[in-house]
Amino acid sequence: MHISSNFDGGNIECLSLEDPSDIQLNICADKDSEFFQWFYFRLVGAKGQNCNLNFLNASQASYQKGWEGYNAVASYDRETWFRVATSFEDGILTIGHKPEYDMVYYAYFAPYSMERHADLLAKTQQSPLVELIHLGQTLDGQDMDLLKIGGDGIDKKKCWAIARQHPGETMAEWWMEGFLGRLTDPNDAVARSALDSAVFYVVPNMNPDGSRRGHLRTNAAGANLNREWTESSMERSPEVFLVREQMVECGVDFCLDVHGDEGLPYNFIAGTTGVPSWNDSRNQILEDFKVNLQAINPDFQTTYGYPANRPGKANMALCSNNIAEKFGCPAMTLEMPFKDTADTPMPDTGWSPDRCKKLGSSILEAILHIQHRL
Ligand code: ZN
Repeated sequence: MHISSNFDGGNIECLSLEDPSDIQLNICADKDSEFFQWFYFRLVGAKGQNCNLNFLNASQASYQKGWEGYNAVASYDRETWFRVATSFEDGILTIGHKPEYDMVYYAYFAPYSMERHADLLAKTQQSPLVELIHLGQTLDGQDMDLLKIGGDGIDKKKCWAIARQHPGETMAEWWMEGFLGRLTDPNDAVARSALDSAVFYVVPNMNPDGSRRGHLRTNAAGANLNREWTESSMERSPEVFLVREQMVECGVDFCLDVHGDEGLPYNFIAGTTGVPSWNDSRNQILEDFKVNLQAINPDFQTTYGYPANRPGKANMALCSNNIAEKFGCPAMTLEMPFKDTADTPMPDTGWSPDRCKKLGSSILEAILHIQHRL
């Protein structure tokens, strides 16, 4: 048997491979950080054997609740990811699986590689609606790219969507495929209508370095990008610095920041209720947006989520709070599950790339519903 993770997004340390029934592993922490939970590796040579893959340091991972009721994903062809029985007992996470082929991949959620990211940019830029704007470079020398969709026009609203500030939340970039696919579909009436009165600025991957390095939460300097929005710098968080600079230049009337939540088995939206400039009008837009989205796509719900910030108690270093206050506009954080949706479960796949894409497509429709009020 052999285990390896030296590839795009890979993360694992193999401690012992002597006994298939007790394969011992540790998840590696993000560079210069204590965060860890994302894993992605391949196992070779265990076809037909009952394997127990034990993650010995799971009890020190960033989100204990993430392991409760959680099943890992596996793939033989690197396209279809299915769930495998996983348990969390006595501080150890265990995947129990009998591989059907010589080689099998395991991950925390369906991976989204930097190659696929490059393919997404290449495909999207070919729409006549799209301009690809290079913003600058990351600390590892990767590209920070922005997609501008739709032509400029007087009174057009500026709608922003960014994803994957936390690189291990790969569902956020699967979501982007659905969102961008619909937005650039010339035969989609919702997209055409949305683009009549808005320009969309989209950053499909806010954290290329963390993505390639197999991080859960930080960039190459150990910075949690969704805590950098008050004091970003080219030295520590160029990803945020470059995007925020562009926001100041272009303006923002609406901003959606797309994430995954390790613990909660729900899709939900966190608003910016705790920012100083919060008011009834923005609250109504937030509530209407959520109700509309639930009607459009029942995988989204409004019952469960984070408790709302009390007035004036918002952490302004978070993207959505910072942007809502700076630009006086609705800004929201979308959270998707690593597990499954408790209300609308699909046990074979759990929450999956296809369902992420469908939600991305649905959200464009929800944005259209509120666009005239921005
Ligand atoms: Zn996140």
